[in-house]
Amino acid sequence: MDLRTSREDEAFRAEIRAWLEKEVPAHGPPPPADDWPARRAYDTGWQHKLHDAGFAGLAWPAAFGGRGLPIGQQLVYLEEYARAGAPYVGVNFVGLMHAGPTLIAEGSDAQRAFHLPRILRGESVWCQGFSEPQAGSDLASLRTRAVRRGDEYVVTGQKIWSTRAHVADWCELLVRTDPDAPKHRGITWLVLDMHQPGVTVRPMRTIDGERHFCEVFLDEARVPVASRVGAENDGWRVANVTLRFERGTAFAQHILTLRAQVLRLAALARSRGQRSGGAGDVRRRIGRLHASVEALWRLTQMCVTEAERLGAPSPLGSAIKLRYSELGQEIAELAVRLSGRSCVGSGDFDGLRTAEIVHDWLWSLQTTIAAGTSQIQRNLIAQRILGMPKGR
Ligand SMILES: Cc1cc2nc3c(=O)[nH]c(=O)nc-3n(C[C@H](O)[C@H](O)[C@H](O)COP(=O)(O)OP(=O)(O)OC[C@H]3O[C@@H](n4cnc5c(N)ncnc54)[C@H](O)[C@@H]3O)c2cc1C
Repeated sequence: MDLRTSREDEAFRAEIRAWLEKEVPAHGPPPPADDWPARRAYDTGWQHKLHDAGFAGLAWPAAFGGRGLPIGQQLVYLEEYARAGAPYVGVNFVGLMHAGPTLIAEGSDAQRAFHLPRILRGESVWCQGFSEPQAGSDLASLRTRAVRRGDEYVVTGQKIWSTRAHVADWCELLVRTDPDAPKHRGITWLVLDMHQPGVTVRPMRTIDGERHFCEVFLDEARVPVASRVGAENDGWRVANVTLRFERGTAFAQHILTLRAQVLRLAALARSRGQRSGGAGDVRRRIGRLHASVEALWRLTQMCVTEAERLGAPSPLGSAIKLRYSELGQEIAELAVRLSGRSCVGSGDFDGLRTAEIVHDWLWSLQTTIAAGTSQIQRNLIAQRILGMPKGR
């Protein structure tokens, strides 16, 4: 791929930069972390503004309400977005990053016509209902049962770790439709309406004190057969399309925020340099982290380009997800180390924004589990990228 930007790319950069410089401050700071209705309003309101300004769905084909921009401009957008410190995608993550792209790749015309514009305008929020208490890494052993009755599936079971399900309207749901088939062959991908009597959502508190994810209990919830994506019992293949988007291109924005975190780390090291000693070692570590983030960004550019060409990201996404999550933890841990004992307190100390540093570190712990653990990514890299045989 050609990493140079064209004159059109630079014109686009100027346009998006000018818009972000005006609109990001106008949107104001995010609401408190535990006020989920306000967070939903903040995130969807921002998405609505992006849509009205023509900056929603830049990678999505124009036929589905997107801009269908060339890859160079998509990457420029991501860089400018990170530079401006624009709002995190937040509650729109599942819809924009993997449910919408899955519908583009696998959905029916009616599903696309109904859902895609709502996702782009920030009018509907999606969550993911894949994991279950006994089905995480071994996702194909899921047991939530869907029985067909006429034009509907009747769904009963339990999902867990469903991020932001308490503010979601729709769920990309994996269910078992054939309990007698081999486990990968009896699964179906459904679109579940979260606002119905058979759906109970219970948020769970995490180590950072917030309630990001939920248990979802399904008690004879209804899904029209028309809301099935792909054929009955072909859900494992469709789920793999979703997971490729989730692991391959969804994290592009996050990788650029790692860049900003390394720069913050450098500023922190400068301010602590006199006191903490070992400055040479810290300099070397920060230099290495900076180089690693740049290398990861190049790999991401390659993956995004490939996804554009092939219609979905390749298994290379597993390598990106693995490196992104482990690098994020290294950066967050070094920040805590440099802040020293001030991190033990709960407030900001010494002008270091320690509360934020500690929060980032606690948050980073989940990244090697979410979207498939590091061990699972290593298995996938071995088998699907390096072509090694399956272990016993
Ligand atoms: C922040 C966060 C958000 C999430 N959001 C969602 C969501 O929105 N929707 C959703 O459906 N799920 C979500 N998840 C769930 C996530 O996908 C699972 O936690 C993950 O797949 C691991 O499953 P598990 O927790 O059951 O762990 P397990 O599968 O029980 O794994 C336990 C340990 O065993 C290791 N292990 C398991 N199998 C193997 C193997 N074959 N080889 C080597 N090691 C192995 C794992 O790597 C891990 O270290 C989220 C998780 C997190 C942390």
